[in-house]
Amino acid sequence: MSANHPEGVARYVREADRALVRRRAQRARLRACKFDTIAVHGMYSMEEAFAGGQGGIIEPVFPSTSQGYRDSDEMEAALAYLIPTWCYSRIHNPTVFYLEETLALLESYGCPADASALVTSSGMAAIKQAVEPLLALRGEGRINFVSAAQVYGGTFQLFSVRMAERGARVRWVRESWDVEAWKPLVDEDTRFLYAEMPSNPQQACFDVVAVAELAHTFDIPLIVDATIATPALLRPLAHGADIVVHSLTKTAGAGGFTVAGAIIARHGLTSRHLPEEARADYATWLKLWPFRDSGPCLSALSAFMLLNELRMLRVKVAHMSANALAVAEHLAAHPRVERVDYLGLPFHPLHPLASRYMQLVDEGTPAFGHLLSFNVRGTAADTRRFFDGLQRIWRATDLGRVKSVATIPAISTHQQQGEEGRQLAGIPPTMVRLCVGAEHPADIIADLDQALARLG
Ligand SMILES: *Cc1c(COP(=O)(O)O)cnc(C)c1O
Repeated sequence: MSANHPEGVARYVREADRALVRRRAQRARLRACKFDTIAVHGMYSMEEAFAGGQGGIIEPVFPSTSQGYRDSDEMEAALAYLIPTWCYSRIHNPTVFYLEETLALLESYGCPADASALVTSSGMAAIKQAVEPLLALRGEGRINFVSAAQVYGGTFQLFSVRMAERGARVRWVRESWDVEAWKPLVDEDTRFLYAEMPSNPQQACFDVVAVAELAHTFDIPLIVDATIATPALLRPLAHGADIVVHSLTKTAGAGGFTVAGAIIARHGLTSRHLPEEARADYATWLKLWPFRDSGPCLSALSAFMLLNELRMLRVKVAHMSANALAVAEHLAAHPRVERVDYLGLPFHPLHPLASRYMQLVDEGTPAFGHLLSFNVRGTAADTRRFFDGLQRIWRATDLGRVKSVATIPAISTHQQQGEEGRQLAGIPPTMVRLCVGAEHPADIIADLDQALARLG
């Protein structure tokens, strides 16, 4: 702290330092707990509940837009970021803090390095916030980044259109499961590597360890969108990734109340393009600087609902994965279905690679999530006829719900990117994306069967 601050400010800093020591000790104790315990409790402790006087066993919600300070010294200390503060809810908020801590702990579970999280108003806001600072500065016109071609439709647009408007070129890797396909695309002007694991809707996956190594030889970060897997199945940081992004709207918020996103970054990440303080703790640096200027913050109420969703994450993901496998096996044997893509099917070409990375946390058994896709035998019109016949499974561009949801990607999530973009990403018009929920799988299978029967 600078000598220009009055003594009263120093007093607040000393008080905050003592509180920080207690918080660090509490966090270290929590980091030693199992995944489910972290998901259920997070950083909200008995000590905190009783200090507040009410003893509520669930985290309080702070809908307040701003924090009041005891006097000018505390305000000065807070606004200079010399003490922990939440200040103003565009920058931070106590309920959002609980959610960020839980996410950081779950995503860095079993990872030697620690991590911090930043939550955002949507998954797309998280992706944009995560990549923008890496594309800034020097080298205008030559800047590029390399991404798996199999990405979410919004990400495809962000990378190919919005980033091109800013002079940064995306180089797509079609065979992203083969690290050799990445190598020729990376050069001195590449700022980061990016992929989904597994991808929505194709379920492409890639060798996280090998692609992280490739990134690090160029001193750049690997960013992984692990929305579909969630930390219950995959924690990319433990395999060498630098930054994980999530749409919390999806599996993490399986109840379907909230649009939200998150960035979780490993402390001390690899990037020769970022300043030292940003590399040290990227998520916190984003929060305190670029993020507060852009403003895509999450409301306290949304954060509270998501905290509640996360408590049972592993159990939900295990249940939905088992249901998805049962449905995939049924569809694979159905005469009206041309092909089924589900990473859990032993004949899926990426099954061995996916099995190496996707395992139910603390159990070690392979599990592959709720997302599958299949192609109806026949034309695009047949696919629509089948789709319009669904009576239990919702037609919606949504996924990761406790309720089963289906869509035709070519006319919905991937409509915007055009025929050429769909061919690049491997999205034929007969493809149906199905996200299996928590219903009994027999009822989902029955609904699929009656809709397929309409095709004769
Ligand atoms: C939905 C989705 C996003 C975008 O998230 P929003 O919360 O809708 O902004 C990003 N990545 C993947 C894999 C998604 O499924």
